[in-house]
Amino acid sequence: MNPVRLLGKMTAKGLRLDGGGGGPVLIAPGDVAAALAMGDLPREAVLVGLAKYADDNNSQLALRDWARAHFRRRCVVRGWKQDYAEGLALLVVYELVNPTRCPECAGRGKRWESVDLTTPLDVAPVVGRSWEYCSRCKGTGTVRLSQRDRAAIAGITKTTFCDTWSRRADELWEDLATLEDRVLRHLWHHFSDQAA
Ligand SMILES: [Zn+2]
Repeated sequence: MNPVRLLGKMTAKGLRLDGGGGGPVLIAPGDVAAALAMGDLPREAVLVGLAKYADDNNSQLALRDWARAHFRRRCVVRGWKQDYAEGLALLVVYELVNPTRCPECAGRGKRWESVDLTTPLDVAPVVGRSWEYCSRCKGTGTVRLSQRDRAAIAGITKTTFCDTWSRRADELWEDLATLEDRVLRHLWHHFSDQAA
């Protein structure tokens, strides 16, 4: 079974964490940075947390630099040219910090969906409506940019991006998503323990 995935969402009251069980945890904006500094998160994970959940512009730039260096090392190991490291680093940090609102659920992560409630006793199909996690965005409330938009942000022609660099960008994005998971778990443990 997959481990429980925590979802972080910025609200007017701060960062809301869902998915760890026992109700959501709400973290005031000023407490995020302080909590990230405690414990043993690697520097790049702290940057992910500050860039995304503390709206820290300097951290966004530092994270871009980290992603660029990280991707360059991968280019060397795999024999790829490094020309697009700058653009890809910019793209993945942009996608991390500016997730696009899902058009299916308007960013709510859930939507009313038709469900079949027919029982053997019914003579005609019975269709009900149920508040379900959005299948388009898997409950995150966000969707990825189009390939055309991603190529433009990375500064690569669409054909070249789709042929070669899109999946490399996806892999780099996964690295940031993995760091974000660590950040959310760290914050969850910190604040759910405190509340208990
Ligand atoms: Zn959705």
